[in-house]
Amino acid sequence: MSAQRRVVADVLKGEHVHLTADEIFVLAQARLEEISQATVYNTLRELVAMGEVRVVTAEDGVKRYDPNVVMNHHHLLCTRCQLLKDVYPLGEDGVILPESERFGFDVFSFEIIFKGVCPNCRHLSP
Ligand SMILES: [Zn+2]
Ligand SMILES: [Zn+2]
Repeated sequence: MSAQRRVVADVLKGEHVHLTADEIFVLAQARLEEISQATVYNTLRELVAMGEVRVVTAEDGVKRYDPNVVMNHHHLLCTRCQLLKDVYPLGEDGVILPESERFGFDVFSFEIIFKGVCPNCRHLSP
């Protein structure tokens, strides 16, 4: 792995989850000034292709990169500020998509996004 790619991987391993590509670029550049936006974007694409990072697309259509692929988790989204949290819902975990609803797809994952308004946004006018 090149130094530039390692920087991208390190940014993702930090405490931040669900960063956008632009946010990752800013953090990567703080660590390695000469890193290019193209390198960051290409590295993200590769990490996703390798299954090391998962993409979550929020309501604003912006992709967020999630390094939490080990634990099976779902997401809680604030539809106003796009805050995205990892959650582990209780209850019936098995969501079953019957063969008749698969349209010939090989289905390998699914995701649930709980949507609402976070405490910070609740007090703001819409
Ligand atoms: Zn919010
Ligand atoms: Zn997540």
